[in-house]
Amino acid sequence: MSELASESLTQGELIHKTAAELAAKIHSGEVSSVEVTQAHLDRISAIDATVHAFLHVDAEGALAAAREVDADVAAGREVASPLAGVPLALKDVFTTKGIPTTVGSKILEGWVPPYDATVTRRLREAGIVVLGKTNMDEFAMGSSTENSAYGVTHNPWDLDRIPGGSGGGSSASLAAFEAPLAIGTDTGGSIRQPASVTGTVGVKPTYGGVSRYGLVAFSSSLDQGGPCARTVLDAALLHQVIGGHDPMDSTSIDAPVPPVVAAAREGAAGDLSGVRIGVVREFTGEWYQDGVIGSFQRAVETLRGLGAEIVEVSCPHFDYGLPAYYLIAPSECSSNLARFDAMRYGLRVGDENGNSAEQVMALTREAGFGEEVKRRVMIGTYALSSGYYDAYYGQAQKVRTLITNDFQAAFADVDVLVSPTTPTTAFRIGERADDPVAMYRADLCTIPANLAGTPALSVPCGLSDEDGLPVGLQVMAPALQDQRMYRVAAAYEVARDAEQGGPLINRVPQLEVAR
Ligand code: GLN
Repeated sequence: MSELASESLTQGELIHKTAAELAAKIHSGEVSSVEVTQAHLDRISAIDATVHAFLHVDAEGALAAAREVDADVAAGREVASPLAGVPLALKDVFTTKGIPTTVGSKILEGWVPPYDATVTRRLREAGIVVLGKTNMDEFAMGSSTENSAYGVTHNPWDLDRIPGGSGGGSSASLAAFEAPLAIGTDTGGSIRQPASVTGTVGVKPTYGGVSRYGLVAFSSSLDQGGPCARTVLDAALLHQVIGGHDPMDSTSIDAPVPPVVAAAREGAAGDLSGVRIGVVREFTGEWYQDGVIGSFQRAVETLRGLGAEIVEVSCPHFDYGLPAYYLIAPSECSSNLARFDAMRYGLRVGDENGNSAEQVMALTREAGFGEEVKRRVMIGTYALSSGYYDAYYGQAQKVRTLITNDFQAAFADVDVLVSPTTPTTAFRIGERADDPVAMYRADLCTIPANLAGTPALSVPCGLSDEDGLPVGLQVMAPALQDQRMYRVAAAYEVARDAEQGGPLINRVPQLEVAR
């Protein structure tokens, strides 16, 4: 191991701390950010060949950022934010100035963005140490990270299984203790479903709560960046850093970030009396594993034990969320991905032999896009074409309104809604690779919140009785009320750990730690 083994804390101890704990130790001078950063870089060197969470590691940039925080601490200056000095893994869908950004696609191989996304800039300004860029399904289309052009990521709970998608690299980096914090994006579930299957926490904020400037677009009316962590409080602290108004994104909400940190702290006191929680009746049935339903039902009983009032709620149009999503998201993607025209970014194929611009564009897109991306572009182009627009895209937009109305009716009666995050635990690598619809079903429970623009999170709720793999509890709140779900999830987390003998994440098989 390189320089700087702390006298007080071993590498193994450092990588198992929460972000909040690390921040406290760094800010008090007990450990340096350089030590913490190096411990995580060493962990990545030791195990990422096995997990493959990262596409690019920026050790030099990370250590330079860490040194700046250490200089502030040494000089007695106020640190830049409550998370200053803490390392983070960034999904490779956000632009990073001077650092490659591939979005998991060959079409952007070798592209080095000339600017930082707003999320990237806010992380840097907060003194958060960006370790590198994480693997993902190409253009964030998928639920398993198998659609990455750069190889699959493995789930640390079982290396033969998927880490979820599209943000499987970010979730796996947390579960493998390669980073205490990560960033994801969620268009139909890509933060929450990976969180669910890796036993970590993932949050999709209210649409417009986190800037999309510099987030490579998949489906602009659905895409939303958000925090990933191993605890609810850590997610809230990160949400506070990346959230808030940005004039560079026209859909950014011009209001303060909801009080998510205060809510997470309040929730940790473990009292939910007076909170009404709705269990969504529609999220059960043939696609749901018994082990998932069992863990979910136990979680509902735990919430009841915390004083919450539990009622059953029907949201009848949620059943149509998946088909509506698979018209709206591909339609927007077919338009957004038109910009990859072989002229502006990354790959260019067939530029010799006197080919026309159209031929170069066609050859480049043929070579640069993977199967799933092509499927979506074709579905979307079809759904938007004249004669079909009303029947497909137009109908889907109407369903979207009905789903939003279901949420509104439900939230007139309850404070939050709960469900399993995804119908199954992590499936085996390859198991659904040839069955796109089976892959799409991973997002049955997550998609409605994207269509309605409402916030939702996933918090681990135990290990399935069937296969011993993590299950996620989804908590959904009304738009702009993100704090409600943090409060409920934080209370649940404390009760869960008391019931189940400590944090669930500590039961992940320990991959060998380099010393
Ligand atoms: N799995 C969904 C899809 O493939 C959601 C992806 C996402 O949220 N980016 O579109």
